[in-house]
Amino acid sequence: MTNIHREMADGKFCVLRLDQAESGANVFNLETLAELDRHLDAIANDRAVKGVVLISAKDRIFHAGADLHALQKWNDDEAQRFIEQGQKVFGHLAALDMPTVAAIHGACLGGGFEMALACNYRIATSDRATKIGLPETKLGILPAWGGSTRLPRLVGVTRALDVILGGKTPAAKQALRYGMIDAIAPRELLLSAALRVLKNGIPPRRRSLLRRVLPDRLLSLLIAPMVHKRILRETRGHYPAVLAAAEVVLAAAGSSETESLEHERHAVAGLLRTDACKNLIRLFFLGERVRKSEGPKLKPVEHAAVIGAGIMGSGIAQWLGSRGVRVILRDVNPKAIAAGLERIRKLFGDRRVFTEKEARDGFDRIAPTTLAVPFDRVDLVMEAAVEKMEAKKKIFTQLDAQASNAATLLATNTSALSLAEIAGATKNPGRVVGIHFFNPVHKMQLVEVVTAAQTEPEMVRRAVQFARQIGKLPVVVKDSPGFVVNRILVPYLLEAGLLFENGARVVDIDETMLDFGMPMGPLRLIDEVGVDIAADVAATLAAKFKDRLRVPELLAKMVSKGWLGRKSGRGFYVYSGKKKAVPSPDLNSLCRNHEAAALDRAELKLRLALLIVNEAARCVEERITSGPEMVDFAMVMGTGFAPFRGGPLRYAETFGLRRAVDELDRLSAVAGPQYIRCNLLEQLATEGRRFYED
Ligand code: NAD
Repeated sequence: MTNIHREMADGKFCVLRLDQAESGANVFNLETLAELDRHLDAIANDRAVKGVVLISAKDRIFHAGADLHALQKWNDDEAQRFIEQGQKVFGHLAALDMPTVAAIHGACLGGGFEMALACNYRIATSDRATKIGLPETKLGILPAWGGSTRLPRLVGVTRALDVILGGKTPAAKQALRYGMIDAIAPRELLLSAALRVLKNGIPPRRRSLLRRVLPDRLLSLLIAPMVHKRILRETRGHYPAVLAAAEVVLAAAGSSETESLEHERHAVAGLLRTDACKNLIRLFFLGERVRKSEGPKLKPVEHAAVIGAGIMGSGIAQWLGSRGVRVILRDVNPKAIAAGLERIRKLFGDRRVFTEKEARDGFDRIAPTTLAVPFDRVDLVMEAAVEKMEAKKKIFTQLDAQASNAATLLATNTSALSLAEIAGATKNPGRVVGIHFFNPVHKMQLVEVVTAAQTEPEMVRRAVQFARQIGKLPVVVKDSPGFVVNRILVPYLLEAGLLFENGARVVDIDETMLDFGMPMGPLRLIDEVGVDIAADVAATLAAKFKDRLRVPELLAKMVSKGWLGRKSGRGFYVYSGKKKAVPSPDLNSLCRNHEAAALDRAELKLRLALLIVNEAARCVEERITSGPEMVDFAMVMGTGFAPFRGGPLRYAETFGLRRAVDELDRLSAVAGPQYIRCNLLEQLATEGRRFYED
């Protein structure tokens, strides 16, 4: 199969057109690397060739880098050979004695950008699809095909650290500012612009004044201790790839290219064996699976109505508008409409995300109203009004007449109410689904697509496709209290509240879970969500799980005092302007006793983490979603659960299922019924089985 096409242009330049057969993307495996190498050989041996352009024939991808499927399957030796082969081929490209230009349109990531780095010049389109960078550390590895060596030489050590450690993939304009590319060209002129560079000769690159005054070798030595300290602070030691990448990049300036490439190879071999890497790659593939559509293509949503212009309704309307969907935004309260539009305006005002035209077009797609206008032309009605069953039922009853077209998908954004009961308010409950967005809508990629027994499968497919259409990651879940994410998250947050109520300190609880790898401590998260909202969701869940869910009395007391968390300036923490939030001193008087005061951080971690594991196992046992991997995926994407741990169930396996069962039994005796273990955990432990039968 041919994956790279070679042709001549202007009689003396060679164009290598990357167009992997039977694939939407260009990726490197042993075969495509060898094919590139053969072309480079032919070019090197052809005296007529005076320059090379690398360009892609794909619509939205220049090159996606290494084929991770292959990497995942191989043993250490095979992976090592793959790394060596990539370095060798790119070395071959870098050593050609003629100018080389990478002409980039679409994603140019990882090994794809490392190939571009081996060229003498990089020119890219400013198209939205063009993203350029090295995301390897996000997968628990580092750029090892010359990226960690060549990028610091090109852009300087501080910039290279910024890009590589952050796994950044900036758009063309930003990449140009960073010096990662040399020029921008319109898409239709990309090839001719690249050929012109070859014709006129590669323009010399000017080093910044700072780099001339302070050589990278010296700068690296100076900043190394600071960089190490910052990484350890930010990753709490959980992401070895970030530290390893920093070491390679910092050492690159003081080493020869050969030494630095060897350093890359050695570092990546160690990383490929880590659990963090395996878990991160597994999550990457789950994301790919969720993103990909299967089955016949359905009509996309072009017109939608959003009911409720509050936090969620306005967020959803803005997101839809930005994705080309026309939206009627309806609220009964004119003030809510005004506030919602103001939030939407602010989101569109972010010039790092939207050009002025995109913002104007997006905003113009949203038509606000307080009137009960008909929804008979919309493909989807998205209800995001108050979380009260009576209000939702009333809205859905009215939708029978208001959205009378039977093909219109009716969706609710409820967090914890019964979908079946809401759908029951309509004459045709089969067309009602849950599409549960998370807050803030523009940042959270996950949506839970909720299905009740009576939901028509066709409507579920449409909801899933709609989520993909607008760039979200849909996980299908059963209509059940809290679905997956809140079902698992809420007991954990409540337990943090109980531990505090019983005397554990705010810092001990939150720092423990930050150390575990959560993006935020649980008490701080309650403050961010809003103590009142957390208390409401907790009450709904507690009503369903009476025998085991315990709600700390403290929450109601805080609500009655108006200590609602960040939005009121006071909750578990006190917030004042830009100052760092500090634990609120007023709460101690509301606590009853101090039995948890004696618990050390190891015990706090055990309790909080096992509570998550236990509830996650219940979700598998009750088949709330398709299996353990989707529970793990939803928790990582919906709550930021320590990605390097691969999700709660993957973590449970690392911890040991038998050990988890024993600890839960101990805890249910000493700490309460919330620790009563899930039967599936006991069953798996007894049978010596696992959640993931790799
Ligand atoms: P909100 O209180 O900010 O907004 C609700 C809006 O609905 C208000 O503006 C209100 O005027 C309006 N409204 C009430 N009755 C209406 C009616 N009959 N017709 C039209 N508008 C009406 O609430 P929110 O936080 O945006 O939550 C909305 C929904 O999303 C709830 O079901 C909630 O559980 C769910 N949700 C919230 C979050 C969150 O973090 N806030 C996250 C996920 C899901």
